[in-house]
Amino acid sequence: MSFADLGLSDDLLRAVTDAGYTEPTPIQRQAIPSVLMGKDLIGIAQTGTGKTAAFVLPMIDVLGEGRTRALMPRSLILEPTRELAAQVAENFEKYGVNHKLSMALLIGGVQMGDQVKALEKGVDVLIATPGRLMDLYGRGKILLTGCSLLVIDEADRMLDMGFIPDIEEICTKLPKVRQTLLFSATMPPPIKKLADRFLTDPKTIEVARPASTNTNITQRIVQVSATAHVKRDVLRRLLQQDEVSTAIIFCNRKTTVRDLNKSLKKHGFRSAEIHGDMDQSARIAELDRFKNGDVNILVASDVAARGIDVKGVSHVFNFDAPWHPDDYVHRIGRTGRGGATGTAYTLVTPEDAENIAEIEKLTGHKIERVPSPVATDDAEDAPAPKRTRGGKREAKKPEPRREDVAAETPAKPKSRRAAPAREEAAPAPAPREEQRSRPVRDERPARDDRRRRRDQDDGPDDGWNGPIPDFLNYTIDA
Ligand code: ADP
Ligand code: MG
Repeated sequence: MSFADLGLSDDLLRAVTDAGYTEPTPIQRQAIPSVLMGKDLIGIAQTGTGKTAAFVLPMIDVLGEGRTRALMPRSLILEPTRELAAQVAENFEKYGVNHKLSMALLIGGVQMGDQVKALEKGVDVLIATPGRLMDLYGRGKILLTGCSLLVIDEADRMLDMGFIPDIEEICTKLPKVRQTLLFSATMPPPIKKLADRFLTDPKTIEVARPASTNTNITQRIVQVSATAHVKRDVLRRLLQQDEVSTAIIFCNRKTTVRDLNKSLKKHGFRSAEIHGDMDQSARIAELDRFKNGDVNILVASDVAARGIDVKGVSHVFNFDAPWHPDDYVHRIGRTGRGGATGTAYTLVTPEDAENIAEIEKLTGHKIERVPSPVATDDAEDAPAPKRTRGGKREAKKPEPRREDVAAETPAKPKSRRAAPAREEAAPAPAPREEQRSRPVRDERPARDDRRRRRDQDDGPDDGWNGPIPDFLNYTIDA
């Protein structure tokens, strides 16, 4: 089936062809005709399946008819992060080249004056993060009564970030008669509740089981002890032994992101970092270095990396097993995008057993355990392994594989990968005293604490210092 079969306009089809898409993805195939018919829609599909174009394309045609009114955006797209909002805006720019649609982006800090001016004239599409939108609404700068099309994108991320109350409030400000589209990778109960309340007789499209992971992604678990230097050692070996062209490495904490990036650079890897403590311009700059290939490794925290869409990421590494199973799906979804294949490794310490069990329960997929590439894991210093629910644990000390021996000598640099400048001497074991007193459990936040930490990680949604997307400079045809 081609895009032409979906009922899109010729102008739009030309833009799609120019953008290089030849075939709609399954979610696009199913969603686009419904959206064009004006139906409410729930679209559940794993990350990287093309949900953005599933709503952007039909919206361009729907909004192509009708005209703007001062202060009243005609449609509203809610995104959980500034990066995602900017990505959706880029999509509108790309596919909307043959249409004269006006847009505004409300993501905090973007030259508010210009944004308000655009809103005053009236925009066809308003793309916003919930916090910023509520802020501007509260100041009377915007009316939502003319907004007859609402998109709640990445709903499960919204939930994770505590945005659901804001979204509920926004929904009540919109006209009752409207079209509402909700997209999510997973459908946890609070999202279901939101949909029940604010969508009218929606068509539900589910292209894969909720929270199932992309089958193009080979998933592996490597058991390691919780010692930081052991984990870094294992990670370096994995970066060397696999065909890693570009990789995103996820850590649970900002400090780990910083430390790991420092360590990788010290070992001669070309890496950059992105986390919530960095201001927006620094985040964008680091992301650009990664996109341009100046570096091929990006060390990231969850919030900063959420939804990042970079083509051709060959590997995702979970340096820390994620605390929340949904994060696992999102993290590994950074690879295997747009039909490509990818590999995801998760370093798992004995304390992570419970998290992994939750991930496997959510995804319904038993992740393959592979031996650690580091032969001498200082296992005797590690806390006693906990048994997973399944009972069996993997062998603690796997036999070194053939490649491991090769890895002892500096590996030949592979294409696009900087070989480490030198091999690290075998790390001296940390003093036993220190290891014993290490409060492993305490470092992990209690379950209730997790959301707070995740919010903290990104800081308040209070400033966009990044480049202003081109479309904001467009003059609006009256
Ligand atoms: P999601 O929101 O489902 O995680 P995105 O909308 O960000 O996914 O799309 C993931 C990637 O797939 C993007 O790089 C996008 O350009 C690409 N993509 C989307 N639709 C198509 C298509 N029909 N053909 C090829 N690539 C596509
Ligand atoms: Mg998306």
